[in-house]
Amino acid sequence: MAEDRSGDVIVVGSGVIGLTTALVLAESGRRVRIWTRDPAERTTSAVAGALWWPYAIEPQALAREWALRSLSVYEELAERPGETGVRLVEGVMGGALPAEQGPWAAARLPGLRASMAEEYTGTGLWARLPLIDMPAHLSWLRSRFLRAGGTVEEHTVTDLAEARAEAGVVVNCTGLGARELVADPEVRPVRGQLVIVENPGIRTWLVATDAAAGTTTYLFPQPGRLVLGGTTDADAWSLTPDPSVAAEIVERCAVLRPEVAGARVLGHRVGLRPVRSAVRLERDAPAGGGSGAGGVLVHNYGHGGAGVTVAWGCAAAVPGLVSG
Ligand SMILES: Cc1cc2nc3c(=O)[nH]c(=O)nc-3n(C[C@H](O)[C@H](O)[C@H](O)COP(=O)(O)OP(=O)(O)OC[C@H]3O[C@@H](n4cnc5c(N)ncnc54)[C@H](O)[C@@H]3O)c2cc1C
Repeated sequence: MAEDRSGDVIVVGSGVIGLTTALVLAESGRRVRIWTRDPAERTTSAVAGALWWPYAIEPQALAREWALRSLSVYEELAERPGETGVRLVEGVMGGALPAEQGPWAAARLPGLRASMAEEYTGTGLWARLPLIDMPAHLSWLRSRFLRAGGTVEEHTVTDLAEARAEAGVVVNCTGLGARELVADPEVRPVRGQLVIVENPGIRTWLVATDAAAGTTTYLFPQPGRLVLGGTTDADAWSLTPDPSVAAEIVERCAVLRPEVAGARVLGHRVGLRPVRSAVRLERDAPAGGGSGAGGVLVHNYGHGGAGVTVAWGCAAAVPGLVSG
């Protein structure tokens, strides 16, 4: 008798969205496989800074709910930073004011206040937020998923019917890859470049926006390195770091923190944010969906500049979408 695979799951993609989604499903008792074109360490997720903050993501109200749900998880994971890659770190969000954030911020971010002049020259807010070391965190997510009985296979999907033929439930977490895989032109790249330098002793994070210049500049202290950013270039596809852009990023950061000027450069990173007019988190029932007809297809992609921030909130919604 053929094995019943109707409850089995294939998650396509192993960035932060695919891994958290697969993990939540595996820990709920399902048999889950990940099929991914790239290993986690070569995804956009591995490039992210990554600060918990709902930046460049729509729809904002839902993103805030997902972000708050993720915040609770990150706070718990920050109790074991060496293992999970998650720490709670203080810093300044330039251009933002505590009062503008709404009541959730005061309730959920203890110690939130306006920044002081010696911390930042413009208006800003001071907060203690999750700062996630993504290479370490992705590796921890993968191990936890494997411990929950999941498997990861390097496998590029060209047609979701292939996955639907193998499992009753398929979850599409392909980020920018969804542009081709499900022919969705709404998901577009917003290129971001970073410079990794030796940390000259900076312990707090800083994000500064210059509306006139249209730039966002940031410094994120991570274990063994300082991450400097950044850029936001819509519809730019190149994954090759541009040396002149790197020099300009270091220059902008050195205006904010002069000790960065002479810091030894350790490396360069480029990633393409999967930006969409709205995150696509829904159950799809395509007509004649391959041999998996009667199966379930859920999409979870298009998280723009805040995929790490909302990952756990979005993943938590998937079991409900799967069971309808
Ligand atoms: C420079 C930069 C800084 C950032 N900083 C932050 C930050 O501070 N905070 C924050 O919250 N977010 C940040 N982001 C945004 C964040 O990185 C993204 O929102 C997030 O990584 C998206 O995750 P994802 O899993 O959807 O996509 P990805 O990480 O791109 O993963 C997609 C996965 O799908 C797989 N895939 C694609 N197509 C196929 C296919 N056809 N078949 C099989 N597999 C496929 C890929 O191989 C990959 O495994 C930043 C992004 C950049 C570029």
